[in-house]
Amino acid sequence: MAADKAPVVILLGPPGAGKGTQARMLEEDFGLIQLSTGDLLRAAVAQGTEAGRKARAVMEAGQLVSDEIVLAVLKDRMAQPDVARGIILDGFPRTDGQAAALDALLAGNGQRVTAAVSLEVDDEAMVGRVSGRYTCAACGEGYHDEFKQPAVAGTCDKCGGTGFKRRADDTAGTVRERLKAYHAQTAPLIAYYEGKGVLERIDAMGSIAAIRAALGQIMGRVAA
Ligand code: AMP
Repeated sequence: MAADKAPVVILLGPPGAGKGTQARMLEEDFGLIQLSTGDLLRAAVAQGTEAGRKARAVMEAGQLVSDEIVLAVLKDRMAQPDVARGIILDGFPRTDGQAAALDALLAGNGQRVTAAVSLEVDDEAMVGRVSGRYTCAACGEGYHDEFKQPAVAGTCDKCGGTGFKRRADDTAGTVRERLKAYHAQTAPLIAYYEGKGVLERIDAMGSIAAIRAALGQIMGRVAA
């Protein structure tokens, strides 16, 4: 796929809407590359880089890391050659400034946003979804205390791993802060992308499979 034709898909939605899950499915279904600024920042925190040291407390409080730090980690990742296949942005942009910076970055490559998909959900349900979730430490497969336990307790269905982890910011209190940040700073981007004619909305209260199918239809329409 030529770099200038590579799709750039944004997943917008509050914490728990399913951005990460669906981004991984878009990777599988369409060969795109998932770029999650949350994952990039968590990696920076784990590695103890300067960006990670600055971001850690902000993330644990459920607030937004500065545009400067987020853009620096994203630009580093976008400099790698695999992104030429097309990208799914999961958790980015989250502010007006980030949206403008993304437009400028893409314009420099003769690209633009292909679609911004808003995953529409109920806030209250998100608190339960996020505070019960955990992942396999080895392969990253997602589970949930209530909705999706491994078939054999304590063993990952996908890779057989036996270690699991929970995010430090997936507590009920922090999720409420993250929802506030989403409504104050990120939800206005829905109108921004609507104005550019690239907005798509999906009812994301349905099953993972139904949302995956809806995204597949959108991809068929906008990125064929
Ligand atoms: P996520 O994994 O997308 O839920 O992000 C986890 C946390 O990382 C957020 O609550 C923010 O503290 C930080 N973060 C991730 N992406 C961004 C972004 N685009 N802008 C600012 N902060 C971000």
